[in-house]
Amino acid sequence: MDDTVRTTAGVDVGGTRVKAVLVRGGSVLGRHVEPTPRDVAQSLGPTVAGVLERLRAGVPDAPAPDRVGLVVPGLVDEAGGHGVWSANLGWTDLDLRGSLAGHLAAEVVVGHDVRAGLLAEHLLGAARGVDDVLFVPLGTGLAVALMTGGRVVRGGTWTGELGHLRVQPDGPACGCGRRGCLEAVAGATAVGRRWREAGRAGDASDVAAAVVAGDDLAARIWQDAVHSLAAALAPVIASAGTRLVVVGGGMAEAGPTLLDPLRSSLAELLPDPDGVAVVRAGLGEWAGAIGASHLEPAPDRATASVPVPDLP
Ligand SMILES: [Zn+2]
Repeated sequence: MDDTVRTTAGVDVGGTRVKAVLVRGGSVLGRHVEPTPRDVAQSLGPTVAGVLERLRAGVPDAPAPDRVGLVVPGLVDEAGGHGVWSANLGWTDLDLRGSLAGHLAAEVVVGHDVRAGLLAEHLLGAARGVDDVLFVPLGTGLAVALMTGGRVVRGGTWTGELGHLRVQPDGPACGCGRRGCLEAVAGATAVGRRWREAGRAGDASDVAAAVVAGDDLAARIWQDAVHSLAAALAPVIASAGTRLVVVGGGMAEAGPTLLDPLRSSLAELLPDPDGVAVVRAGLGEWAGAIGASHLEPAPDRATASVPVPDLP
């Protein structure tokens, strides 16, 4: 085996599932997924070590990774290797890198799931060849990641947490304790909640199906969510010179039902609507793990962006 080719693993610890990939020379050798243990905050080291063992067991002659990228949701201090806060995973200021010490032989790099997802979409997915990108995964949460000039913007720990931007001061309660956050108005959970409050059954995917079937209530709820989302994204796009918006997460499975009205809403707001394309993400739920496998050690805190590695 050629020793100059690097083997890395990417592990994406999410609220419900842990996804892992083994990558060598830019090619994905294997993928593995399993449920996130309830006590993951206390058992992160053994959990990640076990996941990597089962991942490698599924790959014939699997090489050992030289580096493991670990990505998590919530607020992440990449340079310090800390999970500052995650509502889903139930931790506050967890030393992620320290939790893995002693459990893995490889070097460990810590990252944020959405920023890693953007990195993967840029290297291998829907944003290949574009250096000014806004990645918008629409799932339970609503964090975004921004790339300008080919670098993923990192900044402070709240970077990208657009879901907690207050868009309706007297709006619905948000999981963060405030009212009227974008996530509580336009996220998948919010769309499903409005639908059920109106006496219907199901979640955001049922609302999307009802939009296609011509249901007026569904169309109203959907359009409100899209308008609120576009109003929050447009100033970011206009300030950063974004050329491409990549939409992912569960709500993106609605395809044109989401992308078409989002394109029109943005076109109404942006000074240069023709300069911005809106597309669906290319790597689906694996973007975070694949991005994690390509993470480079974060530079010191003074440098506010994530380096993009060269692929062979
Ligand atoms: Zn909030």
